[in-house]
Amino acid sequence: METLRSLDPATGAVVGEVTVTPAALVQHAVDRARAAQPAWAALGLDGRAEVLSRAAVVLEQRADAHAELITREMGKPLKESRVEAKSLGSGLAREVGEMVEALRPDVIEEGGLRSTIHHDPLGVVGAITPWNFPMSMPHWMVLPSLAAGNTVVLKPSEETPLCGQAYADALNEVLPPDVLTVVHGADAQGKSLVASDVDMIAFTGSREVGKHIMREASSTLKRVVLELGGKDPMIVLDDADLSKAAKFAAFNSFRNCGQVCVSTERIFVLDSVADDFEAALSELADALRVGSGLDDADVGPMVNARQRDHVLAQIDAAVASGARVLTGGAGHHDNFVTPTVLSDVTEEMDIGTVETFGPVACVTRVSSVDEAVRRANDTRFGLGAVVFGEDPERTESVARQLTAGMIGVNRAAGGVPGTPWVGARESGFGFHKSRDGHRQFTQTRVLTRAV
Ligand code: NAD
Repeated sequence: METLRSLDPATGAVVGEVTVTPAALVQHAVDRARAAQPAWAALGLDGRAEVLSRAAVVLEQRADAHAELITREMGKPLKESRVEAKSLGSGLAREVGEMVEALRPDVIEEGGLRSTIHHDPLGVVGAITPWNFPMSMPHWMVLPSLAAGNTVVLKPSEETPLCGQAYADALNEVLPPDVLTVVHGADAQGKSLVASDVDMIAFTGSREVGKHIMREASSTLKRVVLELGGKDPMIVLDDADLSKAAKFAAFNSFRNCGQVCVSTERIFVLDSVADDFEAALSELADALRVGSGLDDADVGPMVNARQRDHVLAQIDAAVASGARVLTGGAGHHDNFVTPTVLSDVTEEMDIGTVETFGPVACVTRVSSVDEAVRRANDTRFGLGAVVFGEDPERTESVARQLTAGMIGVNRAAGGVPGTPWVGARESGFGFHKSRDGHRQFTQTRVLTRAV
């Protein structure tokens, strides 16, 4: 039997291992999920919600252990892992309540007819997840799938199989058998799941793999929801509170070692305030403590050597093409990369267009707001974007010109609970969270009768 060893990116030590699911047997897991689906659906929306709500206690009890596992398996500082692990249990009742509201039938009457719009289960959902939020990404796709009456086969990232398994184990304390099963492996198992007869693929990961999944799914018109990568811009206007803007840029470029889909990857600053902004940002970057996530450093290791080398190569190439290193540079030991601030970054550089997913803040000076907007939108991605400035009308106008799916003004891109997590352009296809997001895990069915 083939095993998958999970390594601590801070030390290289083995954290644990799982048995790889032979690719040829992935369909068997789907068959079991298919067999379990009618009884799960038959519990009805309220029955399923009641079962799922019971998982909150288990997730809360295990939050500390889950947080430590997240840090050991993918390196993020323990304080960040705690936020991720605790949110699963503490937010569950609210999320399930939101799903119940979203999935109740709608009724429309006109001309003596009544149409009822049902939000029925699709059947079996295959969920394929990345490593950067190794518990919340499975949660975001598994929970709405189950609430809608589907059963789920989850394939967690090969970088974080233990987190994926631990999440499923917690839910399986309350779920009937085979309602949620896990298959382990890398792209071969992901491909097998996509090729199986699941009714839907819910995927979060890179744009390239998302495109591959969409192509493969087209042969049977499988439903897909794809949450993909980004190259998020931040615009700093000349009336911005520079201290707040620099704090946000440092937080959002370096948290989780920059390995966040909505990391700030491109910063466009008006010329007149650029010196002050760059100085403030560099000072904050300099103050960050790099080290093992278990020691509660500010910035942990990158997830693996491949990701580290990609980031270092982007920095080197940018510097060779004229970018200025304000702090950091391509310094590293093992998987630890020094938080870096670059200035004079352009779109001709790889780092100006290709997702970095590492601890680098890239600053570009612009001479007008129009130039900032044009360059911010000059990307095939479109996940998040932020604008900093004090004049509400001007920030609103700039924000409305940005082509991303989620835009924050003087704050992060994500919206309040209940709003969609949505990418525009090549950052996504479909979305989740919110009423409309939850409904994407369903088959809409309309029943009409005379009244
Ligand atoms: P990835 O695309 O390499 O892998 C994601 C998952 O897909 C893994 O489980 C992997 O084994 C599987 N996979 C790989 N090739 C496959 C194939 N051909 N068919 C089916 N499955 C396959 O991504 P990653 O490196 O794990 O994660 C980082 C990426 O995820 C970044 O681009 C990041 O921006 C993105 N991301 C997006 C969001 C969002 O909400 N939009 C959230 C988190 C991460």
